[in-house]
Amino acid sequence: MEKLIMIKYGELTTKKGNREHFINTLYQNIIYKLKNFDYKIKKDRVRMYIESNEIDSIINVLTKVFGIHGIVIAYKTTDKNIDTIKNESLSILKTLNFSTFKVVTNRADKSYPINSMEISRQVGGYLLDNFEYKKVDVHNPELTLEIDLRPEGCFIYTDKNEIKGIGGYPVGIQGKGLLMLSGGIDSPVSGYLAMKRGINIECVYFESPPHTSLEAKNKVISLAKHLCDYVDKIKIHVVPFTKIQEAIYKNDASSYMITIMRRMMYRISTEVANNNNCKVLINGESIGQVASQTLDSMKVINEVTNIPVIRPVACFDKLEIIDIAKKINTYETSILPYEDCCTIFLPKHPVINPKLDACLEIEKRFDYESLISETIGNIETIVVTKDIDNNLKELL
Ligand code: ATP
Ligand code: MG
Repeated sequence: MEKLIMIKYGELTTKKGNREHFINTLYQNIIYKLKNFDYKIKKDRVRMYIESNEIDSIINVLTKVFGIHGIVIAYKTTDKNIDTIKNESLSILKTLNFSTFKVVTNRADKSYPINSMEISRQVGGYLLDNFEYKKVDVHNPELTLEIDLRPEGCFIYTDKNEIKGIGGYPVGIQGKGLLMLSGGIDSPVSGYLAMKRGINIECVYFESPPHTSLEAKNKVISLAKHLCDYVDKIKIHVVPFTKIQEAIYKNDASSYMITIMRRMMYRISTEVANNNNCKVLINGESIGQVASQTLDSMKVINEVTNIPVIRPVACFDKLEIIDIAKKINTYETSILPYEDCCTIFLPKHPVINPKLDACLEIEKRFDYESLISETIGNIETIVVTKDIDNNLKELL
């Protein structure tokens, strides 16, 4: 009997029209993630099967692939004789702890001479004969034994051998989005949640040297590196934001400093998104968290862009966001103390209900359009992978 991994798609299978696209994207994503393993993979409309001598390490990788809902260790026998199925079922169940069970058979191989009800009955009877204290419970069993009869063999597994997958949709199924990635807690979590819905991400990061340090930039690279657990690589477009920030500051934006700065960020992000085929912007704004994230602020800031802005954590409490950040291992990096470009120019009393007219009046005072095109011309793009060395190791 051969031990193998069976992958269940779950949510995917409900999207009938797109099923093939879903399965092919998931298949490609799994192949990327398993590039360092020796294995064989097969896919069909309901499952994928992986054979390998490194099952445990492979399962570890698969628990971070979006689109997988269940990972089952299954046993396959090519000998489909009913006596073989009975014996194999018994030897699998002998290793497990349970007191009540049921047997469910799926006969995809319609040429098999015994129908599924009868197979379940015969195997169940055999198990009862061989276990002294175990009982059948069809309504609420502690263990369900599944017998999957397919043309290529019989697959036997139990729900006790199932590991929960991470769920969601395969990354890339929705195309690309541009994540505004800062060094904070919220934006990496937003990137993770967007990827979970099938969006492949590129990132934009605004830096303001010498007001922000190289460590601040390395921190952002580190965060992207953590997000590479779920994809093979992530591009970061690093925007030199100093000149624009200084221009806003010089033109006395005072309490409007952050509002204007964020309007500039949105303008630049929109252009970067359009230049890189990203359909939406994604950011870590959360309603009410800071002055620039009141509904009034969001409205005035959002006014400069015409592409959708996805805010995955908009309605989450900070503690809920922190829980996810810890789960995806970005939290420890996010709380490293390097200054972000927003905090440096933070006014004492930032406006919480900015007016569009006031923004337009301040923006008239300097030629921000030429500054923006100059800035976009000076963007540096970094490709981050799991193996990138950004000298932050000692800090993590
Ligand atoms: P924190 O977790 O401390 O709130 P944050 O990253 O959410 O940090 P905010 O000032 O709340 O910081 O900014 C709101 C959002 O704007 C961020 O989640 C991020 O998407 C975007 N943003 C802020 N600063 C930058 C930056 N320097 N580069 C790119 N995006 C940024
Ligand atoms: Mg925030």
